[in-house]
Amino acid sequence: MAVDAKAKALRAAGRPVIGFGAGEPDFPTPDYIVEAAVRACREPWTHKYTPAGGLPKLREAIAGLHGVAPSQVAVTNGAKQGVYQAFATLLDPGDEVLIPAPFWTTYPEGVLLAGGVPVPVATDESTGFLVTAAQLEAARTPRTKVLLMCSPSNPTGAVYPRAALEEIGKWAVANDLMVVTDEIYQHLVYGDAEFHSLPAVVPELADRTLILNGVSKTFAMTGWRVGWMAGPADLINAALNLQSHLTSNVCNVAQAAALAAVTGDLSAVAEMRVAFDRRRRTIVRMLNEIPGVVCPEPEGAFYVFPSVQDLLDRPIRGRRPASSAELAEIILDEAEVAVVPGEAFGTPGYLRFSYALSDADLVEGITRITTLVNESA
Ligand code: PMP
Repeated sequence: MAVDAKAKALRAAGRPVIGFGAGEPDFPTPDYIVEAAVRACREPWTHKYTPAGGLPKLREAIAGLHGVAPSQVAVTNGAKQGVYQAFATLLDPGDEVLIPAPFWTTYPEGVLLAGGVPVPVATDESTGFLVTAAQLEAARTPRTKVLLMCSPSNPTGAVYPRAALEEIGKWAVANDLMVVTDEIYQHLVYGDAEFHSLPAVVPELADRTLILNGVSKTFAMTGWRVGWMAGPADLINAALNLQSHLTSNVCNVAQAAALAAVTGDLSAVAEMRVAFDRRRRTIVRMLNEIPGVVCPEPEGAFYVFPSVQDLLDRPIRGRRPASSAELAEIILDEAEVAVVPGEAFGTPGYLRFSYALSDADLVEGITRITTLVNESA
């Protein structure tokens, strides 16, 4: 968001900045969802407080998606609120949370705010950024309480195959761990990749897992702020105790929009997926044509996470980037292209590109970086 803000400020000042920073679809919310919200605005009940856990109809619809009871669902202000409430609910001070790296920046912050200790578990492109049970076991201590998983992943786009999830899930059960699984990119998978929900793969996990999800990515609804937590009723109750004091109910109009989204079909996301898939293949190809950039082809979400280690400590326009953070700065200053450095995800030496932007901007942005690197070669 910081990179995105800087890019937007430059753009407001008249600079032709191309932004690969945003973690949101570039499409507008589908009309039928917007119309449901417009209708809801006119209904006086939406002007009043409603139950903190969510509108009963929405809770029921979400429960249906996960095959659980409505009491096992909490509607939150985006999945982001779910992250904080999950860790506040699960952690005692000093409890450790295993977080495969690279990770979405919010996870360790949520753990720290709850008094917990984030324990990153490093992965790299040699394994497609997939963590293994053996790596997790090596990081486990007597204080390990929770395993965080995110598939498809922000920032790498990695999608865990079923067998990998099975191994990790069984390991978590065997070691009496709780699991938080972030499934917000579940509908954005490409090619032969398939999304699998961790507790569906390992049913013994159901009573020790909190699922985080929401409408932001699937229905291009990031600004509406509707997400949810699903899991054991006692944990959901505890999370809602907190939520009732923190924020109460999510905006009723936004919940009415979310209800239209989750009870409608998935044709809008199917259309977005076609566009994302096309851009994914274009960006991977173009990035790999830049000498010094190694970009694996991710199978999900809308991010690529290339290694730029070979571009460091080499002159670019008279500057010499010592880190991916400095390289991102040079790219913004010299090519007017915004990307997020790997440092933001606990993994220096990489850049994250979101390909949720127009095909033309994507090609222009990567061409500018290519030119910048080539003229310095
Ligand atoms: N989880 C992941 C992995 C994300 O990338 C994001 C958005 N950046 C979220 C959760 C939060 O989404 P929201 O709060 O809009 O539901």
